[in-house]
Parts: sequence; C-alpha cells; structure tokens
Amino acid sequence: MPDQPLAAAGTIRAVMALTVVDHPLAQHLLTQLRDVQTPPPVFRTIAKRLTIAIVLEAVRGLPAVEVEVQTPLERTTGRLIFPDIVAVPILRAGLGMLEAVAELFPEVSVGYIGLERDDVTLLPTSYYEKLPPIEGRHVLLLDPMLATGGSAAGACAKIEERHPAEIRFVCVVAAPQGMDKMRREHPNVPVFTAALDRDLNDRGYILPGLGDFGDRLFGTGSDSGLPPSRRP
Ligand code: URA
Repeated sequence: MPDQPLAAAGTIRAVMALTVVDHPLAQHLLTQLRDVQTPPPVFRTIAKRLTIAIVLEAVRGLPAVEVEVQTPLERTTGRLIFPDIVAVPILRAGLGMLEAVAELFPEVSVGYIGLERDDVTLLPTSYYEKLPPIEGRHVLLLDPMLATGGSAAGACAKIEERHPAEIRFVCVVAAPQGMDKMRREHPNVPVFTAALDRDLNDRGYILPGLGDFGDRLFGTGSDSGLPPSRRP
C-alpha cells in the first residue's frame, strides 16, 4: 500500500495506519511525562489526561447511532457512540491508561493480557490472559510504549484469534522499530500515539522516550532505562 500524503494542517497527522496526536495540550502533557523530575503521583495524573487526548482521536469513526433527544426547548437529533468497546491494557504499564478509557466510556468491557519475553525463544509469551467476549467488538489495545513491538504484536495475535470487529492500538510514545513490526505483522491495526520517537537504545528503551513507564507510574523506579553512568 503506497504511503498516503500527510493530512492537511491541523492537530492530527496521519500516515498509513499511524496517527500522531500533536494537539498542543497533548504535547504539553507528553513533555511533562518525559521530564525525569516528574514524580509518580503527578506522572499518573498526567498519563491519564494524555490518554484521554489520544483516545479522543482513537475512537473517531467508531459506529454511532442517531438518536432523538428532547432539550429543555425542543426536540433535536444527536449521535451516540455505539458502546461496544473492549479495552485491553497490556500488563502492567497499560493499566496507567485504563482509567482514562473507563472514564470516557463507563460501560466499557475490560480484558487483560500479560506478556513477557521467553528467555530462550525471545518471543513474547503470555503469563496472564483474562478477556471478555471479543467477537465482533471494537478493541482498544492499551500499552503506553510501543518499543520493539513484541508485546503489541503478540497481544494483537491473541486478540485476533477471537475475531474482533477491529483492534485499535493506543500508546503514548512509539518507536520506528515497533511501528515497522506492527506494519509487517498487523497492517490492519491502526496505531494512535502522542509521539513517534527516534530510536531504541540497546536495552530496548525508546529514545528520547520517557524511561520505564511502569516504574514511573507505580513508583518502582529502578533505573527507568537510564544508561549505567546516569543511574541513581
Ligand atoms: N517500555 C518502557 O516502559 N519504556 C520504554 O522506553 C520502552 C519500553
């Protein structure tokens, strides 16, 4: 499929299946998340706000139904999003994005996937999976850091076995390597992010990135991906 041109000027740039949400507020929040000085309680709040901004774009085009409502003045028509959404955070960092989705869509069904890399095969293997019925439903797959793409692609494969209507992958920062993997293995899954960063370091952390999202979210902060010379 040939690359599509960049969308006309606006807050969204879309190239193929990638949407970078570059709304000034999203970028303001992302900059705060990137800042190494941002402590876990603030990080959590900002991560939730930024997820809301990204999800607002990620749900564009979901099926909606036209309804009639009575305002205090007269009858009018409006649209309601068809609420058949399943949110699936990839453990554990994806949990930092879940509350935002649940707040926007209180009736969302939630499933969980936990993946870790098998030391021998180096492939992502599932250590936890609890999914509601998926068939024919719209899945928002949540994982803040699309780094190598191993977990994202592995989770997409697990969900696709259950025949969803579609999967939309929502992250905070993506790396080119993760995007390439998603394009190769799951070309039908659009990716929504606040940034497409430059590269990965030799430990698989995104550059410039924001360190280890899970550690910063849960205050388990070991070294958050810092090179040895800069670790506390
Ligand atoms: N996971 C993270 O938390 N951060 C990265 O930079 C890459 C993967």
